[in-house]
Amino acid sequence: MYIYEKAPAKINLMLDVLHKRQDGFHEVEMVMTMVDLADRLTLSDPGSSRISLSSQSGYIPLDDKNLAVKAARLLRQRFGINRGVHMHLEKRIPVAAGLAGGSSDAAAALRGLNRLWELGLSMAELEELGAELGSDVPFCVRGGTALATGRGEKLERLPNPPRCWVVLAKPPINVSTADVYGNLKAAQIENHPSASGMKDALERGSFGDVCGGLGNVLEDVTLKLYPGVGRLKKVMENLGADGVLMSGSGPTVFGLAAKEEKAKRICNGLRGFCEEVYAVRTLG
Ligand code: ATP
Repeated sequence: MYIYEKAPAKINLMLDVLHKRQDGFHEVEMVMTMVDLADRLTLSDPGSSRISLSSQSGYIPLDDKNLAVKAARLLRQRFGINRGVHMHLEKRIPVAAGLAGGSSDAAAALRGLNRLWELGLSMAELEELGAELGSDVPFCVRGGTALATGRGEKLERLPNPPRCWVVLAKPPINVSTADVYGNLKAAQIENHPSASGMKDALERGSFGDVCGGLGNVLEDVTLKLYPGVGRLKKVMENLGADGVLMSGSGPTVFGLAAKEEKAKRICNGLRGFCEEVYAVRTLG
C-alpha cells in the first residue's frame, strides 16, 4: 500500500516581529497562505521497523536531520510504535528559500503516517506535534490561509485570498532563517505591517487591499545581507506586479498578479535576471 501526500509551499502575505522572548524565540504575527508548488511524499510499509527516506534531490539531508524523518521518529516515540516506513520525497520546492519546504514535508509526513500507522490523530493533535518540529509546521499541517501568532504555532484560520497568480523568483543563494533572525533588532523596527489590516483585506476578499497590505520586517535584514534580493524586488515592481514581497526570511521574492497575462509577462521579464522562476496560483 502506498500513501501519497502533497506538501505545498507557503508564502507570507505579512510577517511582523513584535519582540524577542525570554526563551530566545521571537513573538511573531504572520499571515500565510499556500501556493500550488508542492513536494510529493510517498509513504509505504517496509515490512520492518526501519525508517528510511529517498529523494531525487541532492540538496537535502536524507538522514535523521531531515524534517520528514524527524516527524516519523517523533510519532514513533510518542505513541510507542514499532512499525517502520519508507518515504520517497519528490522535491520541487527550492530548499532554504523562505517557502517552508522542509516544514511542509514534515507536516505531510505527520499526515501520511497518521494514515499508514492508523493512529487516528486529529488535525489539532497533529498541529501540536508539529510545533515540536518547527514553528511553521503547525500551519503546514492544515494549510489554507491563517494568521499565526506566538512563535508561529497559534493559528487563526482566515479566508483564502482571491485566486491570483504568484510569480516566485528564487535567487541562487541559500538564506539561513537563524542568521536572519540573529541579525534582526526587533526593538528597532520602525514600520510594522498590520496583521489586522491583512485580515480585513482577506475577509473583504479585496485583491487590491491584499496587495496594499503586503509587508515583511525580515526584508530589511535579508536585503542588507544580500543586496541582490532588493534588486530582484525592484525588477518585479518595474515589470508591473500588483504586489511584491520577500517570503519568510528569503531569498525568494514573489509578485502577485490578478491576470495570467501579467504573470507571464513578469516571468518573461525576469529571464536573464533570475534563473529559478515559477508561475503558480494560490491554493483556494
Ligand atoms: P522556512 O521558510 O520555514 O524558514 P525555508 O524554506 O527557508 O524554510 P527549508 O527548505 O525548509 O527552508 O530548508 C531549511 C534547511 O532545512 C535546509 O538547509 C535543509 O538542510 C534542512 N531540511 C531538513 N529537512 C528538509 C526537507 N525535507 N526539505 C528541505 N530542507 C530540509
